[in-house]
Amino acid sequence: MPLADHRNDSHAGGVTRRIVILGGGTGGTLAANRLRREFDASEAEIVVVDQDDRHVYQPGLLFVPFGLANVRELTRSRKAQLHDGIEFRGATIEAVDLAADTVRLGDGAELAYDVLVVATGAVLEPEETEGLGGPGSPERVHTFYSPDGATRLAASLNAFEGGRLVVNVVDLPVKCPVAPLEFCFLADWFFTERGIRDRVELCYVTPLDGAFTKPVAAKMLAGLLEEKGVELVTEFNTGSVDGAGGRLISYDDREIPFDLAVVVPLHGGAPFVGRSTGLGDELSFVPVDPRTLQSRAAPNVFAIGDAAGVPTSKAGSVTHFEGAVLVGNICRFLAGEPLDQSFDGHANCFIETGFHKALLIDFNYDTEPLPGHFPTGVGLPLMKQSRLNHLGKLMFQWLYWHSLLPGRDIPGVSSAMPEHGKRHVVAR
Ligand SMILES: Cc1cc2nc3c(=O)[nH]c(=O)nc-3n(C[C@H](O)[C@H](O)[C@H](O)COP(=O)(O)OP(=O)(O)OC[C@H]3O[C@@H](n4cnc5c(N)ncnc54)[C@H](O)[C@@H]3O)c2cc1C
Repeated sequence: MPLADHRNDSHAGGVTRRIVILGGGTGGTLAANRLRREFDASEAEIVVVDQDDRHVYQPGLLFVPFGLANVRELTRSRKAQLHDGIEFRGATIEAVDLAADTVRLGDGAELAYDVLVVATGAVLEPEETEGLGGPGSPERVHTFYSPDGATRLAASLNAFEGGRLVVNVVDLPVKCPVAPLEFCFLADWFFTERGIRDRVELCYVTPLDGAFTKPVAAKMLAGLLEEKGVELVTEFNTGSVDGAGGRLISYDDREIPFDLAVVVPLHGGAPFVGRSTGLGDELSFVPVDPRTLQSRAAPNVFAIGDAAGVPTSKAGSVTHFEGAVLVGNICRFLAGEPLDQSFDGHANCFIETGFHKALLIDFNYDTEPLPGHFPTGVGLPLMKQSRLNHLGKLMFQWLYWHSLLPGRDIPGVSSAMPEHGKRHVVAR
């Protein structure tokens, strides 16, 4: 790949560029592996920085509370997912200096970059909600969004002999916004299997005005909650959690009682993004051009995955689809060419519905989830429960380690959302 100088003369004449990738999760790993294929070692040094060496397959956390997976089996070495010739740096990231093109690390080192990729995901912020993590947690108030939380919840669900179980999303954005709904569907299955479903009240509490953000999917998912006997409470903005008293309390003083609560806490970007002047927004996500993934703050900075402030779901599938466009654009940027504006917000989510079935939704910035088939007229059924989709959900874990993280394309599935196979309908 021919490289043009983008900063100053010292980089001209075949000097190796340094691409620093912050975060060695889904986005950082797949971006690094794709970049390594684009540039040989004489063209670019690729450095991935992460604070630990435990890469967790996060979609698997949904299954942990129900005894269908355990965290040990979902975890691999981050370093081992990186191709030869990629440097892994185990350190915390303290701040980025956009003016100096450097990153300050927790071990005191300063890392200069020619191109920076922010892939530090989203963090859980339970401390931002009054009472969350206080009295009653973790005995009655849980989350499955962290490995420890999912493991603790497994023990509580096993010991639960009946009562009111409330699943609450405090506010958006959250990672994989359908996962809390999947939790409700799996809870219905789990308590049915245990023979105590008639003793368990299930309730889903959301700040949205429906079960989901997109009208057609929201209607379908609300129908499914009703079919499975899960109460839906909408427009509930959780102000505090009274774990000892067993109540969610909204800012407008509504109360939802519970015996066991499963709460998805507020999410924000990595705190160092907020500490890095100019890099983040008020939630510490990185504002980028939604079509090119280039930062609004500096042309040599890009963001991928949950860290990127783009109006689509925070999901591993989105991160994978972003990967091809992001890496193409880093190549273009270094070659002094105009960027490709083709990222369309493509998201693709399997929604586990229990009893060995799942739904599939596929959408982008402009097109909401629609019925039909994916990726063509004869593929997986969209917005319809099927065993095939359940197998697709299980297959996704294999694809994650063997195709997504190595930075490979999935045959027949491109970055851009496929139109073929979709039926346009209107939600009533
Ligand atoms: C319960 C659950 C279910 C999900 N289900 C699905 C699903 O079914 N389908 C789907 O597509 N997606 C799903 N997701 C979402 C998916 O896992 C994420 O969207 C995806 O992993 C995002 O990748 P990322 O690279 O942006 O962030 P991550 O993979 O989280 O990586 C961020 C990395 O940055 C590192 N980091 C952060 N701050 C620092 C710092 N200061 N110093 C050093 N390192 C730092 C972290 O250690 C981490 O390794 C689910 C997520 C959860 C929690």
